[in-house]
Amino acid sequence: MGGTDQVQGDRRSPAAANGGDTRDRNAVINLDHGDPTMYESFWRNLGDECTFVIKGYESLSYFSNPKNPCWFLEPSLEESIKSLHGAVGNAVTDGYSIVVGTGSSQLFQAVLYALTSHDQRNQINVVSAAPYYSSYAEITDLVRSELYKWAGDAHEFDKDEPYIELVTSPNNPSGVIRGAVVNHDGGILVHDLAYYWPQYTPITSSLEFDIMLFTASKCTGHAGSRIGWALVKDKDVAKKMTKFLEVSTIGVSKESQLRVAKILQVVADRCKRFGSPQGHNFFEFGKSLLAKRWEILRETVKKAQMFTLPKYPLQHCNYTGDVTQAHPAFAWIKCKEGIKDCEKLLRNHKILTRGGRKFGSDPGFARVSMIGREEEFKMFIERLSVIQMFNNGDGNENRNLD
Ligand code: PMP
Repeated sequence: MGGTDQVQGDRRSPAAANGGDTRDRNAVINLDHGDPTMYESFWRNLGDECTFVIKGYESLSYFSNPKNPCWFLEPSLEESIKSLHGAVGNAVTDGYSIVVGTGSSQLFQAVLYALTSHDQRNQINVVSAAPYYSSYAEITDLVRSELYKWAGDAHEFDKDEPYIELVTSPNNPSGVIRGAVVNHDGGILVHDLAYYWPQYTPITSSLEFDIMLFTASKCTGHAGSRIGWALVKDKDVAKKMTKFLEVSTIGVSKESQLRVAKILQVVADRCKRFGSPQGHNFFEFGKSLLAKRWEILRETVKKAQMFTLPKYPLQHCNYTGDVTQAHPAFAWIKCKEGIKDCEKLLRNHKILTRGGRKFGSDPGFARVSMIGREEEFKMFIERLSVIQMFNNGDGNENRNLD
């Protein structure tokens, strides 16, 4: 297979985009989405430890804990979230309200609702420093709200107006640690910490920002359960976010919450000591697999002499106790001078990626998922190593077939 619709990138799984067979040497490899399937082998090896059974008569009620302002948050999920942040040391939970959402994507929408008001005269500007996570713009402008509007790259924002700045750290797509860039009066910061976990980046402090978003999708790889959580300092903001979730979906699936509660607790119990028996610690597994992939990618890129990759500083990780560098979930690849369209170049080699323009950046960049299955990663590397230097500058290679 490999017709144009696959090549243009769709929401199907890599296997579906390939007609179900990644062993086919001509298969299209879909590394456009950050689908976290690389973690499957860890969870498979755990056998039944995370098996979760729910009986027909259980969890019928809408309500989970009427005493909690976030009344649909399952107490066991709240516990396991606190326990995991405590074990990893990446975020403070004491004094924070926890709001659960259907992925952190829904929580982002809840935050936009909670930080704006029906009384305000103009829409609030929503900004993030380019290259920014491509979904922010899409989500913000989806329903053309009168409360907020996408205002683009935070570096370019110079209006004397209220704004919300999304700070993604480590950043998607570039993997770098970031801080706010606008720093005007009247701004509110939202920290998206989807990748602030030890497999991706050194944990250098336990963060205490006003609004912090996390997701099981990138923490444990359980994107299909659609569970995200927000740690929110201001109780009124947490209440307004809860209101948004109440009106939009009347809470969040209990099955999903209970499953993720179990998984987070298993990760937390196993991760208290880095360097425990092999295969025991989830973050150790993730870090060593990503480190290996990054090493292979860097070697391949060096040989091909067509691309460059970001460099990450060595930092002390409080969790592992090592001095280490980041191994991000995405490779932010830049084509060398003269090649204008990196996504197109890779697409010509049946590698689907996301081009720089979608991130408010240059089409000379493309984002490639590093967290897919092993076979896909191997095929990606094979194809990258055969891409030749002969190129006419617009992503259409002049293939030299001698
Ligand atoms: N924020 C960032 C930076 C992400 O990369 C993602 C997933 N790609 C999300 C939020 C949304 O995650 P989910 O809705 O799966 O929880």
